[in-house]
Amino acid sequence: MCVPGCAEAIHAALSRRNFFKGAGVITAGFAATAVPAPAEAAIRRFSAVVDLTHTMSPSFPTFFGVPGIELEKKFDFKKDGFNLNWWKLVEHAGTHLDAPIHFSEAGATVEKIAVASLVVPLAVVDVAAKAAQNPDYQLSRDDLAAWEKKHGKLPAGCCVAMHSGWARHATDAAKFTGKDSAGVFHFPGFDPEAVTWLLKERRVTGLAVDTLSLDYGASKDFKTHTQWLPTGRWGIENAANLDKVPASGATLVVGLAKVKDATGGPVRLLALV
Ligand SMILES: [Zn+2]
Repeated sequence: MCVPGCAEAIHAALSRRNFFKGAGVITAGFAATAVPAPAEAAIRRFSAVVDLTHTMSPSFPTFFGVPGIELEKKFDFKKDGFNLNWWKLVEHAGTHLDAPIHFSEAGATVEKIAVASLVVPLAVVDVAAKAAQNPDYQLSRDDLAAWEKKHGKLPAGCCVAMHSGWARHATDAAKFTGKDSAGVFHFPGFDPEAVTWLLKERRVTGLAVDTLSLDYGASKDFKTHTQWLPTGRWGIENAANLDKVPASGATLVVGLAKVKDATGGPVRLLALV
């Protein structure tokens, strides 16, 4: 099996077999956007798949405090011969993706996100020790510099993920949201200044956090969202298990449901390591 970087090889092989006629096969679809293409061609192999997805349920904490999903049993095996639920779903709940349209007037909706931008190198920045001391911690330019000092320049087309340790609070809404008596949230996020630097100086496709929002909980202006999404890039919130993948070298697969006009949606987030 091969992942980003080998799309070109697959393309070439399929072309040779004259088998490449409008079949929805992965091709780089970045020409129309400013979003960088994933890492340059290189065969990558993997030996394990790590699930970075929380199990979705009505009790998973949400930004709006309402259930992110409701299941209604419409057919029952004993009565109808098969089981089937209807779902009522909040687009931005559980482990999910923010599409560019979420914070822009005319950005891409979910179904328009190029598939090649959903399989990318993963860079995990560990700020868990700092966040344990300060729930309002914001991943900084210094944290990015420290990552690069250890692992080299952030790979082109990567997803930069904040590992704050918050995933372990996901079963406790009070802790996960950090909501105080004034109703203000307290959980870590990306410092907008670090995001400005990423936009200017690096070629990054997506941001991911293990908290409810790309912006830290107490943010009032959502400056990380407002800078990042309108450029055509995506964000992922409520990632799980970032402590179980290497800081560098894994490949992220964003299994995004393809829903027309959606501003975001649940993902099965996988890391190939
Ligand atoms: Zn969201």
